[in-house]
Order: sequence, then structure tokens, then C-alpha cells
Amino acid sequence: MANVTITDVVKNYGSLEVLHGVSASVADGEFVVLVGPSGCGKSTLLRMIAGLESISDGEIEIGDRVVNDLEPKERDIAMVFQSYALYPHMTVRANMAFSLKLARRSKEEIDQMVNRAAEILDLSALLDRYPRQLSGGQRQRVAMGRAIVRNPAVFLFDEPLSNLDAKLRVQMRGEIKALHQRLGATMIYVTHDQMEAMTMGDRIVVMRAGVIEQMGTPLEIYDTPANSFVASFIGSPS
Ligand code: ADP
Ligand code: MG
Repeated sequence: MANVTITDVVKNYGSLEVLHGVSASVADGEFVVLVGPSGCGKSTLLRMIAGLESISDGEIEIGDRVVNDLEPKERDIAMVFQSYALYPHMTVRANMAFSLKLARRSKEEIDQMVNRAAEILDLSALLDRYPRQLSGGQRQRVAMGRAIVRNPAVFLFDEPLSNLDAKLRVQMRGEIKALHQRLGATMIYVTHDQMEAMTMGDRIVVMRAGVIEQMGTPLEIYDTPANSFVASFIGSPS
């Protein structure tokens, strides 16, 4: 079970409060998109789920554990960043193996996990290349490979496609959704792009300025926006 439950979560940076007590829950195996304008707190919330930012108040549960005080590596999550977050001096294989080496897995285990991820992502022929020798889409698939090798229960994506051109972005949306189907993992995906949210989310969380304005299926949000902000942000008639 890897449902994610966020209860009254607050984030302060010094005297500045950037999340004002947000609550949401994501079911096991669900694909949920966090969407909202730049600066509304999407990355902060995702990083708190990942354990990369402390939680000022409230509670985050992953599975049946409160994770507030757990290190990132104890949380059964993996985060996918933009494609440029690859190590440039390492091959594709080494990039994907890196976290497994840190976790002191055996060489056999590492090879097996990297090969499986490479097969899922159609990277098997590219394992000896360096990031500079890859296309943008291939780099993004390696970034996903680094997450998959760890077989996490929850994947966290922070605007993973924002470096890619429009055509590739559309293609990669499809690949990420296919990956979700194949792995059945829980996925939380951050974007500021309404189209991306509406086409990818099983459910969507619409945020503005540190609060959640609405959570629902794309259809619910389009048909019955909670307020005029949601209506105009999503582009539905209000
Ligand atoms: P988003 O991902 O939705 O664009 P962020 O979560 O990055 O938004 O940021 C939310 C707010 O928190 C912004 O006002 C941002 O300036 C502020 N913020 C983010 N990180 C820090 C930090 N390390 N110190 C101070 N303020 C921060
Ligand atoms: Mg962000």
C-alpha cells in the first residue's frame, strides 16, 4: 500500500509561510497532478513528500507510516527531475546504477535492476553512452530509469518535461502514462501546464498561493470549478 495522505501541512521559510495548511490524499496506484501558477508551492509540497524539505506543521503519511521524521531514502519514494539532472561524466548505466551503489546492493542485483529498467524504457542499446550523446527524450527516459531501478512505491515528478520541445513533451506524457500503467505505482506529478494536468491526471489538485483550491477528476474540475480562479486557470466557462 502506498497511498499518500497530506494533513494540514504548513511550510514556513523563516517568517514567510508558503503553504497554509494543505490536505489531500492520493490513493494507492493513482496518478495525481499538482497544478497551479508559478510560485504557488507545488515544488515545496512535493519536496516535503520526498523528505527534501522539513515539515513546519501537519503530517505526511506514505503507506501506513507517518514520514515527517524519515530520511528521503527511508520513504519508499523516488523523485524524477528535469532531464538535465543526469551526471554528465557517467554513462547511462552508471547514472541508473548510482543510487543502488549508494544503497550497497550487490553487483548482480544492480545489473539486473538496471537491465530491467532499461528494457522497460527502451534504453538497452544506450547503456554505454554518455548523456551528451543522447537526445532530449532519451535523457528524460534515463532520468526516469534512475527512479525505476529503485522500485519505489511512489514516484514524484517535478515538471519533468519543461526542458523539452512541444512535440517531445506530448510524446513523453504518453510514455509516462504508459509507465504508470505498466508499474501500477502511485505517481504525483507537478506541472504549471493546465493541458498537461488535464490530459494526464486521474485526479488533479489545483493550487494557488499556498492553498489547495480544488481536487477532483479533470471532468469534475472542468464541469464544476470550485471558484472563478479554478475556472479561469483551467479555462472552463465560469
Ligand atoms: P512552485 O513550484 O509552485 O513554482 P515553489 O514551491 O517553488 O513554487 O515556491 C513556493 C514559494 O516558496 C515561492 O514564493 C518561493 O519563492 C518560496 N520559496 C521556495 N523555496 C524557498 C526557500 N528555500 N527559501 C525561501 N522561500 C522559498
Ligand atoms: Mg516548482
